[in-house]
Amino acid sequence: MTKKKILYDGKAKTIFEGPTANTVIQYFKDDATANNAEKHAIINGKGVLNNSISDFLMRQIHTIGIPTHYIKKLNMREQLVKKVDIIPVEFVVRNIAAGSIVKRLGLKEGEVFSNPLIEYYLKRDDLGDPLINEDHIINFKWGTREELEEMQEYGLRINDFLRGLFLAIGLKLVDFKIEFGRYFSEDGDAVLLLADEISPDNCRLWDLKTNNKYDKDLFRQDIGGLKEAYQEVAERLRILPEKKKYSSIKTEIVQ
Ligand code: UDP
Repeated sequence: MTKKKILYDGKAKTIFEGPTANTVIQYFKDDATANNAEKHAIINGKGVLNNSISDFLMRQIHTIGIPTHYIKKLNMREQLVKKVDIIPVEFVVRNIAAGSIVKRLGLKEGEVFSNPLIEYYLKRDDLGDPLINEDHIINFKWGTREELEEMQEYGLRINDFLRGLFLAIGLKLVDFKIEFGRYFSEDGDAVLLLADEISPDNCRLWDLKTNNKYDKDLFRQDIGGLKEAYQEVAERLRILPEKKKYSSIKTEIVQ
């Protein structure tokens, strides 16, 4: 593991200082948490799979013209990314009812929404990430109106793009959570970038035919088989084409 200085130790990733002042290194851990970290487990190989999946999806999203913090994958567990000030809002897009919205609004799991639904949650673990609205974001200056509009535009474009991408590999994109950050360019201008990660830890993915889950609900709901499911997502995306590559994950973890 890298000996660099830790800037932030999160639930599923550690952020290390980068080689230059405007970069950081995201290290993907094997920790899985749910219910605001009440439930915790180590799932060997999860970090390696999420690093590969997120690396691939961030590069794909870049090709449709959405600016991201991503620079390059460094090794099996690390990515070099632009250093941003994270906007403290979890931006969720939902296509199908699942998870917290089912309980909150008494919906039927699996109900398909006529339009993608955007929700915002405040990034505050101590408050249990409460649901907030646009007025909260503007009034409390968590983001400007321009940033909010940009987040909405990017979020919906990312949703359209990822829905198609996953549909092509037999998966329904039920919902996902993304985060944005402000990157300060050399002339001091703030640019909004897609940040964090996009992986089955923060998406819900259901098989098109069976509705089997290929995401963190396997852990949240004690169904099991999380590593195998994430591996299958990676294989369907053709980013782990050889079985050999996966066996090398185990070797790397033992170190
Ligand atoms: N999500 C996330 N981090 C969180 C909460 C939610 O990545 O702290 C993702 C979650 O994986 C799902 C989407 O956001 O894809 C919507 O989650 P929901 O609000 O249904 O919350 P949950 O059921 O996970 O509590």
